[in-house]
Amino acid sequence: MRVTLLGTGSSTGTPQLLCDCPVCHSADPRNRRTRFAILLETAQTTLLIDTPFEIRLQLLVAGIQRLDALWLTHTHSDHFAGIDDLRIFSFRNKAPIPLYALPSVIDTARDRFKYLFDENEYSDISFLDPRPVTGDGPVTCGDLTLTPLYHRHGQSAMASFRTGKFAFIADISEITDREIEKLRDLDTLVISCTVKHDHYKHMKLDDILVLIGRIAPCRAILTHMNHRFDHEELLRTLPAGVEPGYDGMVIEL
Ligand SMILES: [Zn+2]
Ligand SMILES: [Zn+2]
Ligand SMILES: [Zn+2]
Repeated sequence: MRVTLLGTGSSTGTPQLLCDCPVCHSADPRNRRTRFAILLETAQTTLLIDTPFEIRLQLLVAGIQRLDALWLTHTHSDHFAGIDDLRIFSFRNKAPIPLYALPSVIDTARDRFKYLFDENEYSDISFLDPRPVTGDGPVTCGDLTLTPLYHRHGQSAMASFRTGKFAFIADISEITDREIEKLRDLDTLVISCTVKHDHYKHMKLDDILVLIGRIAPCRAILTHMNHRFDHEELLRTLPAGVEPGYDGMVIEL
């Protein structure tokens, strides 16, 4: 399986508009971060996680030729506002794109992009085919078997997942011991690490590192970083086994 971090920025992206900080003015291309999206590819299946504002540009850069399904973690705009761009894949597939998400996330997505869920003027099929994610049973998506992971992100309920020895955890403020138990024996964990200081919607860096220590994957990669995180500084200061991601990073598993 190949994992591509399409976007590794927080909601405002890096550089952030109107900001004079050193990271926003850095010449290091790894400090230029578009919004959160991850692509999983196997021989048979291409699965996208989230559709941020830049999804079209991210998929062009990745050279993607097919898309089989979308997993949507939640409906904050930085993960969701680009969903209209997936229409092109339903045209190509001549079928709706399966959309895996929590029932509440599907409801909100339908409220905000109703035309993607209905028959429409272009075709008698819809663009998206909602598949509610509930319970602990694995979700089969092509040749991928996904184990849902439930956690909190401030007021928002979140669904991330594990597949094989890989897992990702999107924006997080809390996770129960029960869900952490699903993450034993991981090779690679990709996890949102948004802020350095206390934030009501996000665990700060120190708490993310404690959580990574409890999960104990062979390799942990940080994503969803805000503009206070300098890539080089993270490489120097993070503990062994933890590293910052960057846009376009490819992980082979
Ligand atoms: Zn986010
Ligand atoms: Zn800045
Ligand atoms: Zn969010």
